[in-house]
Amino acid sequence: MSARVIIVVLGKQGAGKGTQCKRLAEHLAIPHVSTGDILRAAVRDRTAVGLEVAATLEAGQLVSDELVNRLVEERFEQPDAQRGALLDGFPRTEGQALALDALLGDDGVKICVNLEVTNELVTARLSSRRVCQECGAIYRDTDIEAISGTCTNCGGDVIQRADDLPEAILKRLEVYERDTAPLLAFYEQRGLLARVDGDQDAQDVTADILEVLSERGIG
Ligand code: ADP
Repeated sequence: MSARVIIVVLGKQGAGKGTQCKRLAEHLAIPHVSTGDILRAAVRDRTAVGLEVAATLEAGQLVSDELVNRLVEERFEQPDAQRGALLDGFPRTEGQALALDALLGDDGVKICVNLEVTNELVTARLSSRRVCQECGAIYRDTDIEAISGTCTNCGGDVIQRADDLPEAILKRLEVYERDTAPLLAFYEQRGLLARVDGDQDAQDVTADILEVLSERGIG
């Protein structure tokens, strides 16, 4: 197996991609690359990219393939990504999947893990989700951090993402069905797709993912 381990984690919004990628990144010692986190940081820091995409993110729409492809290409140039990466939120369209293949060349995606969950479950999860604006820690609306508005990890502000409001959640799930669900067939045809039940405790989901990775000699 080649040195670079690129793992694509697919799943609806709220399927648990971020939570699982954080756990797996530690375990596998490869970085968690979330295009959503990269874009939100750009919005927060008011960079040129951030100003360009702020309204799109808030509405729960996708930003252009061209822009996201460029951000991922730049991220892949950093030293920690030479060993590999857990991709969360990318690719999200067939155009992005093709761009990723072109970027990686012969040393392509090793596996695509799909976290399977129902729309009912993710709608409930997303509407009660609160996040730290600084470190990305995820809380429930009933957690003390959400109530006090302060992250116990880093002291950052704990907020509700604008795209976790009901209207934007619906929009995002529609966009997922239209643009991202077709990627399951894309990776299945290449023999790379592994399905994992995302409707279990986080540690059980992690255990199932580690199992499918080890079946393919990863980890
Ligand atoms: P979620 O998957 O829960 O919607 P993310 O944090 O992955 O959340 O993404 C948040 C937003 O960032 C998306 O709704 C979209 O506007 C933008 N975004 C993230 N990744 C991509 C991508 N690969 N292509 C286009 N837009 C993206």
